[in-house]
Amino acid sequence: MSIFFACLLGVHLALKLWLSARQMRYVAAHAGQVPIQFAATISLDDHRRAARYTIAKQQLNMVHSSFAAALFVILTWGGALQWGYQALSSVMNKNLGFDLVLVASVVALIGLLDLPFEWWRQFRIEQRFGFNRMTQTLFFVDALKSFFVGAVLGLPLLAAALQLMRSGGALWWLAAWGLWAAFSFLLSVAYPWLIAPIFNRFLPLTDQALGQRIGRLLERTGFRSRGVYTMDGSRRSTHGNAYFTGLGAAKRIVFYDTLIERLHPDEIEAVLAHELGHFRLHHVIKGIAGSLGVALIGLALLAWLQTRPWFASSLGVTADPGLPREGLMLVLFGLVMPLFAFLLAPLRSALSRRHEFAADIFAAQHVSADSLVRALCKLYQDNAATLTPDPVHSAFYDSHPPASIRIHRLLASAPATASA
Ligand SMILES: [Zn+2]
Repeated sequence: MSIFFACLLGVHLALKLWLSARQMRYVAAHAGQVPIQFAATISLDDHRRAARYTIAKQQLNMVHSSFAAALFVILTWGGALQWGYQALSSVMNKNLGFDLVLVASVVALIGLLDLPFEWWRQFRIEQRFGFNRMTQTLFFVDALKSFFVGAVLGLPLLAAALQLMRSGGALWWLAAWGLWAAFSFLLSVAYPWLIAPIFNRFLPLTDQALGQRIGRLLERTGFRSRGVYTMDGSRRSTHGNAYFTGLGAAKRIVFYDTLIERLHPDEIEAVLAHELGHFRLHHVIKGIAGSLGVALIGLALLAWLQTRPWFASSLGVTADPGLPREGLMLVLFGLVMPLFAFLLAPLRSALSRRHEFAADIFAAQHVSADSLVRALCKLYQDNAATLTPDPVHSAFYDSHPPASIRIHRLLASAPATASA
């Protein structure tokens, strides 16, 4: 089984590097000419800049993927995890706290080692292309905040899960799944007003004319929510975006201030209509249901693997009979799972792209397709998003359809729509 996991890791890394290399080659090869649909809106200079930006990001991804694979080897077959496990046993009692500290330490270590890559992305790549608005201080304050939010939310959940693994009987994984479902539900409700404000300021939309326009759209689409907000995305980046968040009465729509500044009212309305489409077509609920389904399969798999002696040994770790083993199993599972999950990425991306198309069509039915096309073009231009992604890379990773296909479909849907 060691060979199986080594092959899995090798395939995972090779696939990632191959996809990145494809994307870089394809984008470079198409950098000389703006695709015909965009020739009127996006200049050749912007198009070339988007290519350089895409390539720079892929280069960093390749280094990061290689680093992550090396870390996997060091932790498992390299003996680092075994060493930490034994070292911890000499300083800690063998109770729940032992497992908790073991898992939390590995998570914190991986987070810490990822930080330099995050820093490089922000202060080298984003900075070079003029997107960064973050100070070094804000970067580290953000990292600390994330660490504390993660600890406050994650540690109680982790303790409960480990306790269930220890003494929850053969069906502990079902109980753990129930706990996870309740936690995700609460988090979805609490995120917009409890967690997001730790990082950003949210203000109700103040522009009167825009507010009225949006009010009419909300009425037309039968939508009720706590409202539409703007977020100070400009504190960190010039990238613009809009998203839909929360569940039930807590749901809200959030526009980055950078997007509000850049788009005309009819384009903002079109972006909002797209977001409302996600809500009306139940994409949010479907997304939550999907991830809960995946969690159920994952937990059942963990329960099965936990009792197989070969699982730990094939990853270079031996559980000491005198020590708790649940934390160790959880760490190994957490390391191995993403390797499998990555192979399912094309499926997840394809589902997501279907939702994006559907939300676009919804928007075209309630506002005009033209406004959404204009908004999208500005967003592609401002975000230096490539208009010519490699088809294989795109099929694998992209949650949103490639620009040209998306706009083609939107315009194709236009004649059937009546702009209100
Ligand atoms: Zn969308």
